[in-house]
Amino acid sequence: MLKKNEHIIIVGAGIGGLVSALLLSKQGFKVTVVERNGYPGGKLRAFSSQEGPIDAGPTVLTLIDVFQEIFTQANLNIFKELDLYKEELLARHYWPDGKCLDLFSTHEKNLFSIEKVFGKNSAAEFDKFHRDCKTLFYAFNNSLLRNGYPGGFLTKKDFLKSIPRLINILGFPTDYWRKLEKYFSEPKLRQLFGRYATYVGGSPFNSPSLLQLIWYVEFLGVWRIRGGLHTLANKLKQLSTENGVEFVFNKSVTKINIKDNNVCSLDLNDGQRYQSRTVLFNGDPRNFKEGNLGSDLKNLIKKTATEPRSLSAYVWSFASETTGVELAHHNVFFNENYKNEFDSISAGQIAKDPTLYICKQEKGLKSSSKNRFEIIINAPSLTQNKITATKEYDLCKERTFQKLSKMGIYFKNKPNSHNLTTPRAFERLAPGADGSIYGLSPERLLSTFQRPSTKTKIKGLYLAGGGTHPGPGLPMAALSGKHAAEMIQRDLALI
Ligand SMILES: Cc1cc2nc3c(=O)[nH]c(=O)nc-3n(C[C@H](O)[C@H](O)[C@H](O)COP(=O)(O)OP(=O)(O)OC[C@H]3O[C@@H](n4cnc5c(N)ncnc54)[C@H](O)[C@@H]3O)c2cc1C
Repeated sequence: MLKKNEHIIIVGAGIGGLVSALLLSKQGFKVTVVERNGYPGGKLRAFSSQEGPIDAGPTVLTLIDVFQEIFTQANLNIFKELDLYKEELLARHYWPDGKCLDLFSTHEKNLFSIEKVFGKNSAAEFDKFHRDCKTLFYAFNNSLLRNGYPGGFLTKKDFLKSIPRLINILGFPTDYWRKLEKYFSEPKLRQLFGRYATYVGGSPFNSPSLLQLIWYVEFLGVWRIRGGLHTLANKLKQLSTENGVEFVFNKSVTKINIKDNNVCSLDLNDGQRYQSRTVLFNGDPRNFKEGNLGSDLKNLIKKTATEPRSLSAYVWSFASETTGVELAHHNVFFNENYKNEFDSISAGQIAKDPTLYICKQEKGLKSSSKNRFEIIINAPSLTQNKITATKEYDLCKERTFQKLSKMGIYFKNKPNSHNLTTPRAFERLAPGADGSIYGLSPERLLSTFQRPSTKTKIKGLYLAGGGTHPGPGLPMAALSGKHAAEMIQRDLALI
């Protein structure tokens, strides 16, 4: 018998928390979401501007089937709820010598595109890389990513059968960069496919080669939502509210109270206490170690599940007119020496010549000659960060716009300091994460399997979000929210 009168409290309205809120409320549970910011979405957020909202967080929406499944589970059709469309052109890549490569979500088009820019041999090398990424993706998708338990894949028959093939692909060298050197003789292609390690906050020079499967995730399809990706958060909030979820914004949870190893209540920063026996924490699990949820829970999560930290970023969000090279929706401007970039980051700096990702978003609402832009620069998380707060704006501005004009793209309207989100600002937006965007660093060989699982050893306390299994990125954090909702439902049925 389901205990529908259980009051479930979700701490945090990031994508993980929102997905859980939707699914649990659809099951008829009474749900309250407490969020310290004044908006839903967490990192999935927009920057307000005179030209309309500008996506200032995620821009690449992949694994649409994960979201489709979540909406279906809530008796909804995602394509009716959101104006979604697929981008055939995945990304445009520019190098300082003027070379430009487009990649698509069709394998034949990619072979053709790579052959045209880098020759037949490179296309054949890519073909092998692509096939290996596909094998890895299908081996780990059902057994690991869609499985609520990080170690659960070891009991899956299909996975066990695929082990010899996986050893073949993932065997020595196990590090990503050396693997890329084996796959590709063209250094620019190593750089392009190495960049996928940064999608989960790792350096291509220090990460395990398993991260190559992220290429296949992107290949499966990159989706856009008219109005911007942040509208996904607004929609999930709206649908949850229709199911009766109460959202409490601008309040933080300062303590989760435990009695006899059971959750019993929560304290808020305004002195209020909420009684609840079921709590889902959607913030970064590092908060427990930091004592931000009470000293009783400091040892809840193992240090290896949250440390070391993944990368942070400097993010510009602004509107401008541009001239020069033609931009697609997703664009990457590479440098000549990729290794230098990550050496600078390890030394706590941003590179003199950083790789720049530019998302060219919709036209401005007031001025049709301006587009809305998000530009991302990789950066160290706060503990490592040695960039002085008073200097970071000038430094980022100089390095971003000098590089871009050298590479043939001119921004007429330059952003101001309020258009820049820094690692310190990320820490203010979601405290306890050390300004890092993707939780645990993916750089250890076994990091993928070491994130905390949804269910904790405290009865009634669950986790969801990018710091939890199966990891960061919108689809993964959404999956953790789905896993959490399913576990809560199952556990409440057993009480
Ligand atoms: C610049 C940038 C670009 C990115 N690009 C992509 C991309 O293109 N594609 C992609 O898939 N992913 C991308 N990501 C990663 C993706 O955004 C995250 O992995 C995902 O959004 C994390 O969701 P989450 O569920 O962990 O919640 P978060 O977004 O981390 O939200 C957690 C929420 O919990 C709240 N909270 C925490 N503690 C408390 C408390 N004690 N009391 C109350 N509230 C609390 C916080 O305020 C926050 O709102 C990007 C991230 C950034 C920052």
